[in-house]
Amino acid sequence: MNVRIALHALTAALILNLPAAPAEDAHREHGAHEHGVGSLTLALDGNEMEIELESPAANLVGFEHAPQDDAQRAALERAVALLKDGERLFSFPKAAGCRLTAASVSSSLLGHEPAEQADHEDHQAHAEAPTAAVEHESHADLDADYDFECTHPEKIDQVEVGLFAAFPATERLKVQYVTARGQGGAELTKAQPRIVF
Ligand SMILES: [Zn+2]
Repeated sequence: MNVRIALHALTAALILNLPAAPAEDAHREHGAHEHGVGSLTLALDGNEMEIELESPAANLVGFEHAPQDDAQRAALERAVALLKDGERLFSFPKAAGCRLTAASVSSSLLGHEPAEQADHEDHQAHAEAPTAAVEHESHADLDADYDFECTHPEKIDQVEVGLFAAFPATERLKVQYVTARGQGGAELTKAQPRIVF
């Protein structure tokens, strides 16, 4: 029995000390929060286009814990300011007449919400995984919500996404959208940052 307990403790210690790469591999199997990959959801409802970005914080600030020094606090502030600049990150066709009416950023890194709750929301897919507790300790998302109001929403045939330029650690964005033209999905990259509806 003592051996069993000791083994258990050893296993726990090994898991906690795993280098980043295997932890990421384990993560990848769940199909969520893969570093370099974010997701975008766009929904057009009447004149309003709502966009939701979910991204590993690593893609946007380079770390996934509460900022621990001035440099990290500055990096986080910079990322939040950039993220809130929705007009720079999302370019609609001029004829659509879209303007940003609201932008908000949320993350456990910002200390506005308990980390545990944020992780629960961000990692629902992991909830039943045996390594979930470990992942919760080492991963965090930085999410953003945008509302655009468009005078001619029927003219929105595409959106150019500026996240790759603003946040070079972002490699891919998985996109889901619903517009009057229909619904669909796309995968964007630095080389192809445009959603065509
Ligand atoms: Zn992570």
